Amino acid sequence: MFVANPRESELRISPGTCLRFYRGDVILRDGPTGLLWPWTPASRAPEDLPLGTLNGSPVWARNEPTLEPGAHRVSLRALAMQLDEAHYAAASLAAQLLHFEQSYRHCPRCALALVRVPTGRQRHCEACSDDWYPRIAPCAIVLVSDGDRLLMTRQAKYPVGMFGIVAGFVEAGESLEECARREVFEETRISVKNLRYVGSQHWPFPQQLMAGFFAEYDHGELKVDHEELEDAQWFTLQQLPPLPPKPSIARRMIEDYVTQRA
Ligand SMILES: [Zn+2]
Repeated sequence: MFVANPRESELRISPGTCLRFYRGDVILRDGPTGLLWPWTPASRAPEDLPLGTLNGSPVWARNEPTLEPGAHRVSLRALAMQLDEAHYAAASLAAQLLHFEQSYRHCPRCALALVRVPTGRQRHCEACSDDWYPRIAPCAIVLVSDGDRLLMTRQAKYPVGMFGIVAGFVEAGESLEECARREVFEETRISVKNLRYVGSQHWPFPQQLMAGFFAEYDHGELKVDHEELEDAQWFTLQQLPPLPPKPSIARRMIEDYVTQRA
């Protein structure tokens, strides 16, 4: 189990582990899932970020400025699909905090260098006395159904044959539900009804929070927006295409719907 804890003073008292990153990729210890490196209070670097505890032991994140010869690095996106929930949570937090550190170096108001706060996730501007917190980008992700058919979408960057479901960023002044309806309509010209919130997931690419909705087809003819999508189709539950990998919320939502209809 992973428990987030930003307080350095509570974590640096005992040995634990560290997730090491290089240019956004994860450095693996040995084998494809060797995510955790040994960490002790004596080996602590000043830049190490406290994540919390993983199965009771402190866990930290470190950004490496260089890569050792022979080091094995892998994209978090590829690795995430193989992680259990606790390791995914730690890796997702690490990636988001390191991304925040690297992209929020200076105060957005006065441009003074921001400093880290040892008790929280914020970065502080001493001139403005302002705190800046990691940015989170809310998104709606929508599984549109019409009885035994699902509306599925495909982006050009997906693996061959794979289809996902409609998703998009919430705009300023918009509710999650309004975003869900708008994204479905923009991408497919389909209008939906009976939206039902089903759960959420943090998605560190780089900082999304995905809010999942089931929606039912209301009216409209499918017409694909080719600026955003390569394809969109209705699929019957008996003939679904290759699905997004676990542990994506899209996969969970599709499987939940199939189970509910069975
Ligand atoms: Zn400032």
